[in-house]
Amino acid sequence: MSSDPVIPKSRGLRHRGPVTVAVVSGPTAVGKGTVVGALMRSHPEIVVSRSVTTRPPRPSERDGIDYDFITPDQFDKLIDTGGLLEWATVHNSHRYGTPRGPVEQAVADHRTVVLEIDLQGARQVRETYPQATQIFLAPPSWDELVRRLRGRGTETPKQQSQRLETAKVELANADEFDAVVVNDTVDHAVARLVDLLSL
Ligand code: 5GP
Repeated sequence: MSSDPVIPKSRGLRHRGPVTVAVVSGPTAVGKGTVVGALMRSHPEIVVSRSVTTRPPRPSERDGIDYDFITPDQFDKLIDTGGLLEWATVHNSHRYGTPRGPVEQAVADHRTVVLEIDLQGARQVRETYPQATQIFLAPPSWDELVRRLRGRGTETPKQQSQRLETAKVELANADEFDAVVVNDTVDHAVARLVDLLSL
């Protein structure tokens, strides 16, 4: 990957109108959590899906808030009982998944539900909810992405390299998404999401 700005093309929105299921995907450290958090504060009527993961919590994270942190056995059980809408092993290390129940409930209630998940998960949701709006959050440039990842300092250098390898694959596949939003500033990215999701 060169250090040129990475502003990939999207395939374009297929429909307009109220959005129920929305997927927000994008590479490591692009700021998905920050942007979705700000969206939730400005639009408390939306539901944000809370994932389960076998990854251990970071010092700043709280169980039941950022994720439900569960054991590999618990994760296996969720898969076996059909409790996950989608799941994936991310960055070749830990598993992450979207509990099915809360998403189905939000859809039944006609509420917009946002899933912040990786590329593999986005592909699975495309099968289950073809009408979902899928948004790819992109960094203003590759160098900026690297800077954000190093700057947050929550991963070892080896983990950072692994995450950047995954990021290259994700950026190369951004054209699968309905829209690409560049996270240059949080306010700008949130405004674009509000527009795309007709909130
Ligand atoms: P992190 O470890 O930085 O919290 O997340 C790593 C990656 O896992 C991010 O790309 C994030 O979007 C993705 N992820 C988080 N929750 C889920 C989920 O439920 N399903 C899938 N497929 N990916 C997830």
